[in-house]
Amino acid sequence: MPSPLLYGYAGQLLRVDLTHEKIIEEPLDIELAQTFLGGAGFGIAYLYREVPPEIQWFAPENRLIFATGPLGGTRIPGGGTFSVTTKGVLAGGAAFSQANGFWGAFLKRSGFDALIIQGAAGRLLYLYIHDGLAELREAGHLAGLDTWEVEDQIKKELGYRKRGMSVAAIGPAGENLVKFAAIVADKGHVAGHNGIGAVMGSKNLKAIAVARGTMTVPLYNPEKVAALSKMIRDTVKENPFTRNLYQYGTLGTYRLVEKVGALPIKNYTTNIYPDKEKLEQFTPEYIRGRFQPKPNPCWMCQMHHCHDSTITEGPYQGLSVEEPEFECLSAMGGHQGRFRRPRTGLG
Ligand code: SF4
Repeated sequence: MPSPLLYGYAGQLLRVDLTHEKIIEEPLDIELAQTFLGGAGFGIAYLYREVPPEIQWFAPENRLIFATGPLGGTRIPGGGTFSVTTKGVLAGGAAFSQANGFWGAFLKRSGFDALIIQGAAGRLLYLYIHDGLAELREAGHLAGLDTWEVEDQIKKELGYRKRGMSVAAIGPAGENLVKFAAIVADKGHVAGHNGIGAVMGSKNLKAIAVARGTMTVPLYNPEKVAALSKMIRDTVKENPFTRNLYQYGTLGTYRLVEKVGALPIKNYTTNIYPDKEKLEQFTPEYIRGRFQPKPNPCWMCQMHHCHDSTITEGPYQGLSVEEPEFECLSAMGGHQGRFRRPRTGLG
């Protein structure tokens, strides 16, 4: 039985020195992890400890810290989340961004609470983590690939199937230091704030691939955690304010936001959608009825939120993609002020 101070934590982190292509295991600073609870708090604390104010975002001295929290890898819904903390590109200050999916849970179940990436590699590399081990691998053959292609390629060469591994990667934008480049995991979970993908690109790190892992997170009272997980799910499912979210995620909010007059239309010049019939094409019933939805929830999540959709007509017929969410529908829909029905797609 581990010390109570370690409950909820794997107890180790990895320091990856890309300049010297070295990986060092470090014990987790338990006091720091408890004081700054959660992946973002932990990352910010390490960033302030290790990166002086004068260091620029692209300097090898900058850190890129991937961290999970004490619920990561447990049965609590959303326990696959991870936070990335760094000195950000656009604002020049401490920045963090988070993504859901599986990556955080897999890292924890591989025996690590966090990764601290430092230095800059002299060649393009990727990091492969599996069952308590980590290694840096040549990634020259992945240069220029987008994040979906990188994930497919790494899984293929290492022999993993869909949910046997989670890959967080940058695409060409990150490699070319585009200042709003993101880090994308699991083909759809995006840590996208403040150019963190460009920081990863500046370090010549193309991807971090983490195998599913078989370790369990030590918990003080696993039965209580399981009961809490059920309570969270039941509450979200049954509460009238969250039932729609449970059923459709943010996809279900487009119509609600329009009803209360908060939908941005024509670049915020109005909140009135001019074509009520077309508005129906943004409803979850229309989208799920038309694009062959297939549930694709995150680690331990039972919300009917994340789905894959298959495009059923036009030049992209047969392509399976993530179902759009509110922000996507809003930004690519009424926000742009295009109300004529296009020949293909959602429009
Ligand atoms: S499926 Fe949706 S609600 Fe569930 S953890 Fe993932 S992003 Fe969150």
